[in-house]
Amino acid sequence: MSMSTEKAEFLREAIALAYANQQAGGRPFGAVVVKDGRIVATGVNEILVTHDPTAHAELVALRAASQVLQSPNLTGCSVYASGHPCPMCMAAMRMSGIKEVVYAYSNEEAEAYGLSTAAIYADLAKPFSEQSMHIQYEPLRPEPYAGLYTEWQQKQK
Ligand SMILES: [Zn+2]
Repeated sequence: MSMSTEKAEFLREAIALAYANQQAGGRPFGAVVVKDGRIVATGVNEILVTHDPTAHAELVALRAASQVLQSPNLTGCSVYASGHPCPMCMAAMRMSGIKEVVYAYSNEEAEAYGLSTAAIYADLAKPFSEQSMHIQYEPLRPEPYAGLYTEWQQKQK
């Protein structure tokens, strides 16, 4: 199995972005969003400079791509990430319609450096009652807000 030259170029770009970010004092992650064979947006991990815990390279790139394409729907786009995307980024890609992601560094390789998110994947795969974060479902339906979903649905017509 070998990767196409085009895919290798996009992945190399994600790694180059990650390397430059690491050289600049940031975390070693980069990502590019590709559509129709060209890069539409890029991102690097910005959590240290922005204090934003969600500023992962993939999410930064998705946000930029959605602005370029003027849509929250990124169907037809692919993501190339330097590292194995975390569950947050993986979910964001699914929710935005992305059908393909390619990454270069595995969680196994990242583990020794404290850069793996394998433990979070494992935690999220457990039933809510067994996860490390307390998750509570409380079906509160106070008036006058009981139409929260039904009224939203009516506005869609
Ligand atoms: Zn992430």
